[in-house]
Amino acid sequence: MLSKVMQDAFNAQIQKEFYSAYLYLSMSAYFENQNLPGIATWLKVQFQEEQGHALKFMGYVQERGGVVTLQAIAQPPCEWKSSLDVFENVLEHEQGITASINALYETALAEKDYAAQILLQWFIGEQVEEEKNVMDVIAQLKMIDAHATAVLMLDHSMGKRGRE
Ligand code: MG
Repeated sequence: MLSKVMQDAFNAQIQKEFYSAYLYLSMSAYFENQNLPGIATWLKVQFQEEQGHALKFMGYVQERGGVVTLQAIAQPPCEWKSSLDVFENVLEHEQGITASINALYETALAEKDYAAQILLQWFIGEQVEEEKNVMDVIAQLKMIDAHATAVLMLDHSMGKRGRE
C-alpha cells in the first residue's frame, strides 16, 4: 500500500512530467516557426517521452492502490533568443527534474518504500541519459555558432529521432 506521503510526492512529480511535456511541445512549435523542422521533430519525440514518464508514475500509483490527482499545468515559455538559448533552458529544466527525482528517492528511503525505490532507480538512470543528450546538442550548437549550413545539417540529423 502506498503511503500518503509517497502518493502526494508522486502526484507532484506527475504534474512536473506533464509540464515537461508541455514545455517541449512549446519548444517544438518555436522551431517549426524558425523553419527547423528536424529540431522540432526531436523535441516532439521528447514531448511524447515526457508523457510516457507521467503515465509510468500514474500507473505505479494505481498499481499500489493509490489515487492519482492531476494538478494544473502552468503555461510554458514560447519565446527564446536563439536555438542555443532553448537547449540551455532544457538543460536547466532537466537538472531541476533530476533534483526532484532524487528528492523523491530520499522520500522513498525515509518511507521504506522499496518498490518505489526500484521504479525511481529507472528514472535516475533516465535523467543521466536526458542530461547527456542535451549537453551533446548544446556542444554542437556552440560549435556551429551562426553558420547557417551547419544549423541545417544538425536539423537534418536531429529530425531522424524516432525514425531510426
Ligand atoms: Mg521526464
